Amino acid sequence: MSNVETTRIADLLAGLAKFGATEKGGVTRLGYSEEDRAAQNWLLDQVKDLNLAVREDAVGNLFLRKEGTDPSLPAVAMGSHLDTVIEGGAYDGMVGVVAALEVVRLLEGKELKRALEVIVFRAEESSRFGFATMGSKFMAGKGDVEQFSTAGRKDDISFKEALTKWGCDPAKYKDAIIQKGAYDSFWEIHIEQGKVLEETNTTLGIVHNIAAPTRFKIIVEGLADHSGATPMGFRKDALVSAAKLILAVEEAATAEKENGTVATVGVVDVEPGSINVVPGQVTLWVDLRGVNETSIATALQSIHDAVKDVVDNDKVEVTMQMLTADKPVALSEDLAQLLENVCLEHGMVLDDSILPADGVKFMHMNSGAGHDAMHMADLVPTSMLFVPCRGGISHNPAEHAEVEDIKMGIDIMAEAVFIRANA
Ligand SMILES: [Zn+2]
Repeated sequence: MSNVETTRIADLLAGLAKFGATEKGGVTRLGYSEEDRAAQNWLLDQVKDLNLAVREDAVGNLFLRKEGTDPSLPAVAMGSHLDTVIEGGAYDGMVGVVAALEVVRLLEGKELKRALEVIVFRAEESSRFGFATMGSKFMAGKGDVEQFSTAGRKDDISFKEALTKWGCDPAKYKDAIIQKGAYDSFWEIHIEQGKVLEETNTTLGIVHNIAAPTRFKIIVEGLADHSGATPMGFRKDALVSAAKLILAVEEAATAEKENGTVATVGVVDVEPGSINVVPGQVTLWVDLRGVNETSIATALQSIHDAVKDVVDNDKVEVTMQMLTADKPVALSEDLAQLLENVCLEHGMVLDDSILPADGVKFMHMNSGAGHDAMHMADLVPTSMLFVPCRGGISHNPAEHAEVEDIKMGIDIMAEAVFIRANA
């Protein structure tokens, strides 16, 4: 399938991918960078013919607005981000921005009571300043310039300096806060960044919940000893005890897999880290996440129980240090229902099995990754649509989504936005 619309979507995505393009075929376009600005300027140029009113808020979030016939009504908003991780791909974020603009184009000439507003959130990725979804956090009143200036890449300027360079006054960041109900609704299309849709041959996923990470360190204190002179029965090997805890973390999440809970030990620090010394101290960095708070608590309790067993049996000391414990976010069930109705009207089939269906499939699902939509959900009814990405690969130059799938998402979202814009 190729027509004017799919060609335009593909061209916009390919055009954006040139800004920050790397030798490895990826994209490095960090938030608030010159590439970020150049990509945005290019995109604005591409959609000039839509005659949208353009403004930036106090932290550089971009708003493109098309007025409706009744200016007293809150607008329907859509959007995503243009920044990428280091050596990222050409779809994460960009799909949502291009889709939102395409929805505006599809609805051109139709009478809408409410205005439409496309939002480009700044710095969704944590790759430059160590904090994710910065632009939407500021809008939701959860951003803090001082705090955001405490981390970041060592070879780079601080967030405060970057904000100034972008043309914003860091002292005025609170002007970016929007009120609850400022919009009728917010919609974001995003690549799934997982492989559920692809493996089930499903074209669209209606997102209900966004998982939140609970992150903590488990520090195991044993005793560093000579690896030759210390007999097996006389050791307090911190790594052996830590290995039991890694398995316990896996078991804790596996026992909760029906509820979508997952857990990962992504980093293991071993001290002193020498081949001839029994490990004296090990730090495990654990990421536990899910969409069900009770399930997350259950998994966390099993990990606590395993720690107690290891302390009792191995005579080592173990401490757990909480890093973050965010709450999962529930998106709007009303908007999800509206999306389901629209999908069914378009002849799509609701089916989450791996079996082929007689028609284009859609399903209900949750998001394991965080998005700007989770902060918008604090403020206004919010919904997300996922499109498949090849192999579930994301944050990687190999990231790829089919333009036909994106187009399907755009058609469905346009219909839902049209209904809300006249409600
Ligand atoms: Zn993203």
